[in-house]
Amino acid sequence: MKRIGLLGGMSWESSAEYYRLVNEATRARLGGLHSADCLLRSVDFAEIEALQRAGAWNDAGALLAAEAQALVAGGAELLVLCTNTMHKVAAAITDAIDVPFVHIADTTAHAVRAAGIGTVGLLATAYTMEQDFYVGRLRDAHGLEVLVPDAPDRAVVHEVIYGELCLGVVDDGSRDAYRRIMRRLADRGAEAILLGCTEIDLLVGPGDAPVPMFDTTRLHAERAVDLALVPG
Ligand code: GLU
Repeated sequence: MKRIGLLGGMSWESSAEYYRLVNEATRARLGGLHSADCLLRSVDFAEIEALQRAGAWNDAGALLAAEAQALVAGGAELLVLCTNTMHKVAAAITDAIDVPFVHIADTTAHAVRAAGIGTVGLLATAYTMEQDFYVGRLRDAHGLEVLVPDAPDRAVVHEVIYGELCLGVVDDGSRDAYRRIMRRLADRGAEAILLGCTEIDLLVGPGDAPVPMFDTTRLHAERAVDLALVPG
């Protein structure tokens, strides 16, 4: 089993999910008392969020690249960046390390494609919904059509992530708002909803949308375990 490096803390609410998911997936595959061989580096999210808000992506990339190097120095044999948004600086990280980087958008797109789905509705932070690093990759590298909510709905989705979910707040009213937003995406033609932020699975689950859901957190964690268990 290879050692998985989890670069998290963005937020720690979802990193805790990653830790649980990689261990559950390892037990499911190997049985008995098996658990994941992993390292977790958890940063202070307030620092990262300030860099995001300032548009200081180069600084954020340098910071996360250094943390990824620390994980590799600690023995990590593959790297999992436990956030969709910070994949904006994936290139800074991959340039700094010499172990495989498990890209969350590619992992998710493969699962969507395997299900025969071509059009998805994306719920994520404003950065992920509105900039091209994520939607463009889904479109250009994987041929997916990506629908994002309209501007007022994007603001709701974003605010619930930073103002509630990253603080451990799970609110029934926000769940209802997300349900309405997912329904509107399905009405516009989304064949599935992509939970493109690693905290959203804390709020909604499969019964909350009229179409299938693809949870990036679970897919990413399970892909990491699959790769960790490839012999050699
Ligand atoms: N965890 C979230 C994501 O998957 C948002 C927090 C962040 O900005 O990293 O995008």
